[in-house]
Amino acid sequence: MKNGIHECWFCGSDKTYVDSHATRLHGETQDYISQVRCRACFARGPRVRFSVRVEPGYPDLERTDPNSVVSMADKKAVKKWNDGPVNHMT
Ligand SMILES: [Zn+2]
Repeated sequence: MKNGIHECWFCGSDKTYVDSHATRLHGETQDYISQVRCRACFARGPRVRFSVRVEPGYPDLERTDPNSVVSMADKKAVKKWNDGPVNHMT
């Protein structure tokens, strides 16, 4: 296990990482999804949705703060992934 993220349940690679990407923007709310991904086989783990308030010139997602919304979502996504291959690909 690397960086607390379990090896890929599908191909066994340790090239797993957690990432979040923007999905929908509605009004001043930007939706994101955090999920674990595998660089080797492109498997994806369970999605964790979260939203942040968008302000003019808003900064990048705050990953350095362990209690930020994105950090908490990443943690949840990793936990779901680490729980095992049940409920994946949702
Ligand atoms: Zn894989």
